[in-house]
Amino acid sequence: MTSTQARHTRRAVLQSAIDAGARCARMDSDMWFRADDESTHDWQTRRTTAQRICAGCPARAACEELALRNGDGEPEVDDLVRAGYTGPELAAIRTHQERHLAAAVAADQDTDGRHLRDLTVLVQTEAISSLDQRQHGVRKSPAKVQAEQNQLVRMLAARINEIRTARRARAGWGVAA
Ligand code: SF4
Repeated sequence: MTSTQARHTRRAVLQSAIDAGARCARMDSDMWFRADDESTHDWQTRRTTAQRICAGCPARAACEELALRNGDGEPEVDDLVRAGYTGPELAAIRTHQERHLAAAVAADQDTDGRHLRDLTVLVQTEAISSLDQRQHGVRKSPAKVQAEQNQLVRMLAARINEIRTARRARAGWGVAA
């Protein structure tokens, strides 16, 4: 995955790419973080090693994009390495890409929104489909076809309800909102 591809990729796919290819996954994760009492010299030596490992990591582009969307790294705090960058470097990139990152984070959060729209279209399509369309080439009794359609619509409606309830809960609106 290139950096350009990563910018247009949703969070779940980025995470999958990291899960599948991260070189650090098989190493001590402390390598990428400065210890509380670690001297600057020791940290800089270790940081260089971590950056070298990141440079050869197949998941680097996904890792960088996700780190930026997660807000990893602060301008004045040199205590971690992500995707080969120090905290201040990540903070500088984040400032530079502010507009893209805001749009990407919003799109990540709206995965449920797209899913809801798809399900709603499916329910509407199913509800207005004719008996012939619902036969799918197999001769069944109208009552059986109608029962299958009702069951499908109920299942889709329940899934829509689940997603809406989860979205409201995440937004702090409670179940009854
Ligand atoms: S780029 Fe570095 S921090 Fe990111 S997954 Fe790869 S090894 Fe780990």
